[in-house]
Amino acid sequence: MDAVIIGGGVLGTVLAYLLTARGVNATLINSGFQRPRFPLIHSKLLRISEDIRLARISEDVYRELSREIGINVLRPMDSVTIIPNTCYDDTSRLMNMWHNVGVNTRIISDVRDYGIKEINEKEVYILSTNGDNFVNFPLLMKYVRNTNGIKYINGIARIKLSDDGVKALVNSEILHGDYFIITAGAWNSIIARNANLRIPLLPYKCQAAAFLSRRIDIIVYDYVLEIYIRPLGSIINNALGALGLSVMVSGDGNSRVTEPGKEGSVDREFLNEIKNKVRARLGNALLIGSRFGFCESTPDMRPVVGVVGSNNLLLIGGFNGYGAEVGPALAMAVVNYLLDGSWPDYARPYLIDRFGNDWPNIWDIDIEAHELCV
Ligand SMILES: Cc1cc2nc3c(=O)[nH]c(=O)nc-3n(C[C@H](O)[C@H](O)[C@H](O)COP(=O)(O)OP(=O)(O)OC[C@H]3O[C@@H](n4cnc5c(N)ncnc54)[C@H](O)[C@@H]3O)c2cc1C
Repeated sequence: MDAVIIGGGVLGTVLAYLLTARGVNATLINSGFQRPRFPLIHSKLLRISEDIRLARISEDVYRELSREIGINVLRPMDSVTIIPNTCYDDTSRLMNMWHNVGVNTRIISDVRDYGIKEINEKEVYILSTNGDNFVNFPLLMKYVRNTNGIKYINGIARIKLSDDGVKALVNSEILHGDYFIITAGAWNSIIARNANLRIPLLPYKCQAAAFLSRRIDIIVYDYVLEIYIRPLGSIINNALGALGLSVMVSGDGNSRVTEPGKEGSVDREFLNEIKNKVRARLGNALLIGSRFGFCESTPDMRPVVGVVGSNNLLLIGGFNGYGAEVGPALAMAVVNYLLDGSWPDYARPYLIDRFGNDWPNIWDIDIEAHELCV
């Protein structure tokens, strides 16, 4: 079987490897518009039970990949989730679901030992172990692109649908295959539009800032200030750690619909707001950089997978800010579909059929699906 994958980011990378490991000839086309520059968070501390299941299965997929390539791409991380006490009842119901997927949680009264400041007396702090990992996507991508059996093509692909079937066009070459899978993240809707397909996806701008602070070794999910703060997780932090320092990355859930290519820089208001919030939580923190990327949403903020336009053309997208958390499970679902012709039960809530033909042309980006206390 020949599969052509368009987009070699988080999903395309995992999918290409899983297919190749099962004897499929995979061609992976990637434009290089966007790539993770540091390890991404994989977290099981999610809000929706089906998502928690995906995160649990995704963890197994990462373990399978790590075993097969001989490099552990997962690095376990502890986290502190900070919630307002008004959200405690909801969160304790979630904690029961987290425990069922192996997370250990403990309410702690003092966060100062972790380098975090208390902001008011109405905060609750949940320390979690076995709930989060850093996934070394920069390394995984490098490895997969050089894997025997994967044909990696650097270029911008288009899909063409005609009476002859589906074709992919890249670098003046026409590619044929038994299956075509669109995994181009925020560019999915552009590829679909150029192929006269209508899909329930919108791109939006997502931003992050980097700070130099005193050494902090945990992830902070802060639902009081509505930000996350995490160590960069790269080799730079190992070196800085010896000096008692860390590079911390922070972002918020604010998002604005915009098409890739139409934005030039990080928003000033974002930087001002995030700087104040990070300093409120960590104390001294020097802003040392920022970047923006493009994320993607469906009308219900949950990922989508399924067949579009032709029975050998598949789409997998809509991962907003949590593609590394739940994506690999849906990549595995695509593998099952290609090899066995059916979707596993866990993937059914994410099938594109749930939208019918009934979705608006534009919608407001809601709270990202991985956020709590909504
Ligand atoms: C700063 C930042 C930090 C983030 N941190 C996390 C995190 O810690 N954990 C987490 O789970 N999520 C995180 N996210 C979100 C995560 O990156 C996305 O959910 C995830 O990347 C979606 O995966 P994808 O494969 O659908 O898209 P992408 O990973 O964006 O991959 C799409 C790929 O397709 C390529 N492409 C586009 N058009 C074409 C074309 N025509 N032909 C060929 N290739 C094409 C692009 O270059 C890109 O490489 C973060 C996002 C940003 C911006």
